[in-house]
Amino acid sequence: MSLSEKIFRNTAFRLLLMRENQVSALDHFSFLMKSQYWEKQQLLDFQWTCLKKLLVHAYNHTEYYKLIMNERGLTPDSLKSFDDLRKLPVLTREITHERKDQFIADKFEKSKLQKFSSGGTTGQRAELFRDKESFNIKSGASWRNESWMGRMPSDKMALIWPAAMDIDKSESFKTRFKYRKLMRAVVYNAGSLNEASLSYIQKDLLDFNPNFLKVFPTALYGFLEYIVANKLPLPKLKAVMATGEPLYEYQKIFFEETLQCPVYDMYGSREVGNTASECQNRDGMHIAMETSYVEFVDKNKPVEFGTEGEILVTDLTNYGFPLLRYAINDYGIPLDRSCSCGRGLMMMDNAVGRLMDFVYRADGSKILGHVLAISLTLEGPPVGQMQVVQNSFTNFIIRITDDPAPNQDTYDYITAEMKKLVAGDVTIDFEIVKQI
Ligand SMILES: [Zn+2]
Repeated sequence: MSLSEKIFRNTAFRLLLMRENQVSALDHFSFLMKSQYWEKQQLLDFQWTCLKKLLVHAYNHTEYYKLIMNERGLTPDSLKSFDDLRKLPVLTREITHERKDQFIADKFEKSKLQKFSSGGTTGQRAELFRDKESFNIKSGASWRNESWMGRMPSDKMALIWPAAMDIDKSESFKTRFKYRKLMRAVVYNAGSLNEASLSYIQKDLLDFNPNFLKVFPTALYGFLEYIVANKLPLPKLKAVMATGEPLYEYQKIFFEETLQCPVYDMYGSREVGNTASECQNRDGMHIAMETSYVEFVDKNKPVEFGTEGEILVTDLTNYGFPLLRYAINDYGIPLDRSCSCGRGLMMMDNAVGRLMDFVYRADGSKILGHVLAISLTLEGPPVGQMQVVQNSFTNFIIRITDDPAPNQDTYDYITAEMKKLVAGDVTIDFEIVKQI
């Protein structure tokens, strides 16, 4: 970090954070930069203390947790270990949607909590809340993750996002100044891939000149296809962080070849924020143990290390709207290894590796399984889970879960996409199943 950067961060940046009531994010960042090098046991002890404190709070101050713990004859004192947490039910998006007000802690005024929507491409979006201090801790945790790719809190970074919902559309002179000159971050919406918006983003990126990008892989992919096709210049980047959706190997290769810089994967969600991220070794992700407790389960039983399980996250920071054992509808793999970077934070992998199968065409060429998955699900009617089984070059069985129920539009869309991808006269037998 240069001296001018250091001065900037200690003056204008800090003042802006103070004005926005966010200055504690810098203290959380400093703490997290130290705690990441604690021994694993010290981190586990800290995590347990945070979890216990949250349990006591949730029981005493939210209607939902009081009810469900009483129903099960539990008190915070009766939960004595991480394993005991499994006595609490898994929390689904549907429950938070249906019983939203029961999660708001009585110490907080609903109007003062920050409101946001859950992610998810299918089903009901839930409205969730986060208290201010939790937001600041999550900012500090974000900065820590970004520091692993070399970005310090006030280094210039552009965010390439697919959705308009995260974007302050009215970029007045004041907001422009605040974000570009002070926060040093600009958000671009690359969700609509029309020429005018792509051209605007390219020109504005050259003007803003960031060293780092934080991106949704599909948004960056579409943008970079435009850049490559038109041979347009981009700023010289030091690193890219992918977030919000799985980062597939073919996307990573395309980004690194086009941008000539490393790409880091970060796992998080709108509901519980940053959960894990790759360090400079980029060989598995470190879990943010100080702010999240992550479980990997199969039917409520923890899976073995190295085995894929459903991810449940307990957000250790959100006292305004406690979320314990929240099912994000993602899968991950817990890893039992330490990293040569020296951080004591436990590690996980995302589960996209299992999608690396191929579908073969009659001419012997093959289509990567995840390319197929994206083509069949990115647009068109929403589907739950899907499995493609290849019987011959042109005959397939496609199993689809029944929630949301697929209809004729779903079948037509998938058939048309399969015909395009497999480049032949395919026949498909659809099977509707409860689960895959
Ligand atoms: Zn590491």
